[in-house]
Amino acid sequence: MAIASRIPGSTRPTRGASTPQPKPDAAVPPAEAADVDGASTLAPMPPILEAHDLTKSFPLGPTIVEALRGVSLSVAPGEFVALMGPSGSGKSTLLQVLGGLDQPSSGEVILDGETISQLSDDRATRLRRDRTGFVFQSFNLIPLLDAWENVALPFTIAGDDPNQADLRDRIRDVIALVDLTGKEHHKPDQLSSGEQQRVAIARALVTRPALVLADEPTGNLDYTTGTEILDALFRSCVGRGQTIVLVTHDSKAAAYADRVHVITDGRILDTIDLGRRESHDAAPLIARLAQLGL
Ligand code: ADP
Ligand code: MG
Repeated sequence: MAIASRIPGSTRPTRGASTPQPKPDAAVPPAEAADVDGASTLAPMPPILEAHDLTKSFPLGPTIVEALRGVSLSVAPGEFVALMGPSGSGKSTLLQVLGGLDQPSSGEVILDGETISQLSDDRATRLRRDRTGFVFQSFNLIPLLDAWENVALPFTIAGDDPNQADLRDRIRDVIALVDLTGKEHHKPDQLSSGEQQRVAIARALVTRPALVLADEPTGNLDYTTGTEILDALFRSCVGRGQTIVLVTHDSKAAAYADRVHVITDGRILDTIDLGRRESHDAAPLIARLAQLGL
């Protein structure tokens, strides 16, 4: 299939046949979902995430590491975006800054209409808790809690009782989404690594965050198990309109995305529009990466 490639720094995703179509029960607010559904209207859809000219430097002894050197991007509600690049290219730094886990040295991050790069630590922590879900390479489950309790953790931490009927329903739904129904009472050490990562995904989804950020979520998994994880993320995107930003060095993982930003040396080198596809065939992406010499 034909793929489109755009110049770096182009911040507005194009709308077209490949524009994701969030469902009405999606994580996005109804007004935005209605806008997306009206495919023939030209009204701009407000991005859920925007980054403007982000830089991030780390002092390292007598030198300074410039991990980000001016990154701008924009993610529409319901999009699945991959940040792909070699080790050390700045992907994790970018994801942390996008999700408010770290502040940029300069530039701006706007999440769901709020400029998170200028918030106090307290406010940023609350916003991050309410609007983002993180999935990491190491699953970060609590070993003493079973799968259900691990998924319920964001509610427990927020001081809500996860046994309330509506929260129980949500927990049941995300556990079903990641295909773990029946394993609710397994502790992490009674689950396979793929199942553990699916618990982590359910935990990231359960609060219905505006944005799920995943950093190499398949990095510790074999190929088949990694596919389960990517399928679960893709289902959350297609079935729930969940917006996803996935960091990966792996073109097979990136091929699940609607759009791939290729990161090298702290910059977006290229942006590749794959469009929403059921096949996740990596060949068009690999061909484009080969043209770029990667
Ligand atoms: P990636 O996730 O693509 O492998 P990172 O974002 O982790 O890359 O790192 C980008 C660059 O920034 C690397 O050179 C890394 O060594 C450096 N870096 C990341 N975090 C820190 C830090 N806390 N202190 C110093 N250097 C860092
Ligand atoms: Mg990394």
